[in-house]
Amino acid sequence: MSTSQGDFNPKIDYVFKVVLIGDSAVGKSQLLARFSRNEFSVDAKATIGVEFQTKTLIIDQKIVKAQIWDTAGQERYRAVTSAYYRGAAGAMLVYDMTKRLSFDHMVRWLEELRGHADNNIIIMLIGNKCDLGSLRAVPAEDAKEFAERENLFFMETSALESTNVETAFFTILTEIYRSVSKKTLSGGECDLQSNASLLRGTQIIVPGSEANRAKRGCCT
Ligand code: GDP
Repeated sequence: MSTSQGDFNPKIDYVFKVVLIGDSAVGKSQLLARFSRNEFSVDAKATIGVEFQTKTLIIDQKIVKAQIWDTAGQERYRAVTSAYYRGAAGAMLVYDMTKRLSFDHMVRWLEELRGHADNNIIIMLIGNKCDLGSLRAVPAEDAKEFAERENLFFMETSALESTNVETAFFTILTEIYRSVSKKTLSGGECDLQSNASLLRGTQIIVPGSEANRAKRGCCT
């Protein structure tokens, strides 16, 4: 496992885990490399094993550390473990817009995700490789329709040309933040089922922080 930045920062308000899933070769690792290090490599990756990268950003004046997990090849053997999904506040379902099959498989990935992840997980559908427009095999309309039906956010990206990558990650993290802070605001409601699940494993509890108040304010 690796992180792109130091793990200890006493000022961090939230840590959100986001998992990348989808068929092999759709560009998950390159999306992660682009977002976390602003890099793109044409070489295929060699290693198998779960890996994550982190990036710290500011959302609504809060310091949010995104912890983005990449299957790093596990999906080739349909062996993505339940530990991979544990504590995820968000998921990016990635397909290659030049490969229809990778889009058709989104149904399976979504099923797998919903079977393993939390009910309140925020999901974004990503059509990657939009730089290869002439080879498009998935009309944006099909993807939009699927996203609407399944209640997912949707965006087309290019890790190669850096199109929409930052926007996509920023959007999903902002939606996670909104979802968590909405529950924090309605703290007295004790909506533990949905609240705890997003908080569990995804937040660092800083003394006096919003996270800590939320936790204390609810029924734990
Ligand atoms: P993963 O198996 O889903 O992690 O896919 P990779 O990130 O390893 O990418 C698979 C292949 O697609 C590699 O050859 C990448 O260089 C290429 N690739 C990834 N993203 C893009 C993109 O946005 N545009 C293009 N043209 N190629 C890409």
